[in-house]
Amino acid sequence: MAYPGSTLITRIGELVTNDGDPPGPAGRPGGAGGPGRGAPGPGAFAAIADAALVISDGMVAWTGPAARAPAADAAVDAAGRAVLPGFVDSHAHLVFAGERSAEFAARMAGRPYRAGGILVTVEATRAAPDAALRANLRRLAAEMRSQGTTTFECKSGYGLTVRDEARGLALAAEVTPEVTYLGAHVVPPEFAGDPAGYLDLVCGPMLAACAPRARWIDVFCERGAFGAQEAAAVLAAGRAAGLGARVHANQLGPGPGVRVAAEAGAASADHCTYLTGADVDTLASAPMTATLLPGAEFATRHPYPDARRLLDAGATVALATDCNPGSSFTSSMPFCIALAVREMRMTTQEAVWAATAGGALALRRTDVGHLGVGARADLVLLDAPSHAYLAYRPGVPLVAAVWQQGRLVAGTP
Ligand SMILES: [Zn+2]
Repeated sequence: MAYPGSTLITRIGELVTNDGDPPGPAGRPGGAGGPGRGAPGPGAFAAIADAALVISDGMVAWTGPAARAPAADAAVDAAGRAVLPGFVDSHAHLVFAGERSAEFAARMAGRPYRAGGILVTVEATRAAPDAALRANLRRLAAEMRSQGTTTFECKSGYGLTVRDEARGLALAAEVTPEVTYLGAHVVPPEFAGDPAGYLDLVCGPMLAACAPRARWIDVFCERGAFGAQEAAAVLAAGRAAGLGARVHANQLGPGPGVRVAAEAGAASADHCTYLTGADVDTLASAPMTATLLPGAEFATRHPYPDARRLLDAGATVALATDCNPGSSFTSSMPFCIALAVREMRMTTQEAVWAATAGGALALRRTDVGHLGVGARADLVLLDAPSHAYLAYRPGVPLVAAVWQQGRLVAGTP
């Protein structure tokens, strides 16, 4: 059987499909696995040795042993290298101007990170013309793609006026469908004496202008940003406007973020660096992903989140970059995988699953994060024989080629 207009990628040393069965009969979409075969979307980590894959119409049409591969119109010889699902980066702040390398250098010399640093970027972003923001955004999106990211989320949050937030979301929508309204990032200086007034703006006119351009709403629930009641109000207003919820939770210290996220039915609680036992129980039982952002701990010298504790409790764990100019200026999912394996005691399989299938679940997507038949043909060819090399050879550019919906978008196979 041949697939019209198809491409066969053959002699794949290791094909990571993430379409495995869950570990137990009552497997839940957890770090140890996903919903399993038959259910839409990713399953548990799974890989095929000496494999082949057929792309047709932008989708995965066939996977299996190379020796049994069907004919196709074009062929790519992987020559023993590994193929993975494209990375799904479910947390990024890419609409901004300026940079904060001096702040980073000072922090490395001993000054602590505070949420207020965001305002430096807000000032630069408001002053930037559309063309400058667009150019920076496109440069970062291309940077992500060349490192194997085929789906990414992008937040507003450096405008903090009705006009600037709506502008940020319109720009984000040019590069991704996963657009998140983050008016509740921090209270801007002009509302310093009136945080309740700013909350009214975020939940009122700003939301009205932003909701048609976004899929998600997010809030920075943290000391120095927004408290539990404020965060719950933001998420409720977003939900009433048709947006799904996600939360910046428990990044800089213990707090109510995870609980607020669960109560709001959020798709994901992000950061999860400082968790109580009750928070871990919440993350393990709620239909919600714990998205860990080790680039932020790297760049702020905070302790890494306890991924092992979350995985052992049965929570669904995703990895994302948190790419932003203040607290995590990396666009590299391979870097985050290496950190997660070395510093957070995730296995190489768990980390790769979290950076692909986990990200998909954090965005409630079933078409990406796995390479089962019918999935989007978003895939990465590594210049290495197995997924483990992403952590085994940290900092080395191992992504040889990237396909998005079956189209080669970066590298040379
Ligand atoms: Zn963030």
